[in-house]
Amino acid sequence: MNIPRKVQLMGHTVNVAVIAPKEWKHKGCVGYFDPANSLIAIKRARPSQMAHVFFHELTHAILALMSHDLYEDETFVDSFGGLLAQALSSAKYDAPIRRKPHK
Ligand SMILES: [Zn+2]
Repeated sequence: MNIPRKVQLMGHTVNVAVIAPKEWKHKGCVGYFDPANSLIAIKRARPSQMAHVFFHELTHAILALMSHDLYEDETFVDSFGGLLAQALSSAKYDAPIRRKPHK
């Protein structure tokens, strides 16, 4: 599953940076949301792992913008973000409806 370069939340642009392991300076974590810089940073890993980290950090970002009490609740954030990743990675879409051009 691809992760985006940036997302928009309530008019804010949240940039997403994937950092090479040798440049990663945050031992003990594989991603973080930096609200001051509207940045989600993710340590490069397998795509499915990075997707899980992305949705975890996106959940932090959404809750921060909502000023919600659950913002720092890692248990909630991890299960909610995990379920979001599961839903979107398993999502199936109908083919777009194409209209025939008028003659
Ligand atoms: Zn977290």
